[in-house]
Amino acid sequence: MSKPTLAQFQFQQVGVIHSCYRQKFGIPRQPGIVTAAEAELELLPPYNQENLIRGIEGFSHIWVHFIFHQTMNEGWRPTIRPPRLGGKQRMGVFATRSTHRPNPIGMSVVELKGIRSGNGKVILELGAADLLDSTPVIDIKPYLPYADAIPKAMGGFAPLPVTLAEVKFSEQARKKCETYQQRTGRQLITLIEQILGQDPRPAYLGETTHRRHGTALWDINVVWESRGDYFLVTDLEYNKDIKEPE
Ligand code: SAM
Repeated sequence: MSKPTLAQFQFQQVGVIHSCYRQKFGIPRQPGIVTAAEAELELLPPYNQENLIRGIEGFSHIWVHFIFHQTMNEGWRPTIRPPRLGGKQRMGVFATRSTHRPNPIGMSVVELKGIRSGNGKVILELGAADLLDSTPVIDIKPYLPYADAIPKAMGGFAPLPVTLAEVKFSEQARKKCETYQQRTGRQLITLIEQILGQDPRPAYLGETTHRRHGTALWDINVVWESRGDYFLVTDLEYNKDIKEPE
């Protein structure tokens, strides 16, 4: 028998994600959790043809295969401390959904809410995505309930989604949110409640309170802090050049 050797493969980007998430911090750890976070998947040339998605409208959900492009240059780690275990225990990379993997490929099952095409563009409208804006997409497949939904499946160390924490707004922050909602038609308040409710902070900050955090959504920075048993949104900053938080 010949000795197995490692093979290398090249993939073509077939599309790009447009989403409200301008930074990793705040993005839910899986799709389906923040339902107010809609996104779009734009097919790129030469894949921007309606032919390639013929029949997809009959599926309520699709698998999006993508590249963890923002972290891929950081390499990978054999073991990970999953946030679901409070960051205290290490698990093997192949037992987790970590972004830092030997091949930086992610997969998310998302709702297919609609399809738009015209003027050379083909766009899939998605619901509740966990994807950074500009994420490169390498494949799309229909979600098949008979094969992909396994009611008796075991969830290992991540059995159930976390319960949502309460989110409150300062008077100033709520006013700014309402103005933003009126101007853009975006459901910002619900989006913030869902994002902060699942506590996006790294596990080691679990007990820390009154520390200022910023979460970049579209062209704004949501400023917030933990108050122990709830999160308080203190302000909304308008910022065209949002940077990664320290
Ligand atoms: N559902 C996918 C999976 O299981 O492969 C992704 C799970 S991963 C734990 C989700 C996290 O990936 C998000 O919370 C966000 O921080 C990060 N993320 C999303 N898009 C990314 C991108 N393009 N590059 C790097 N990290 C990304």
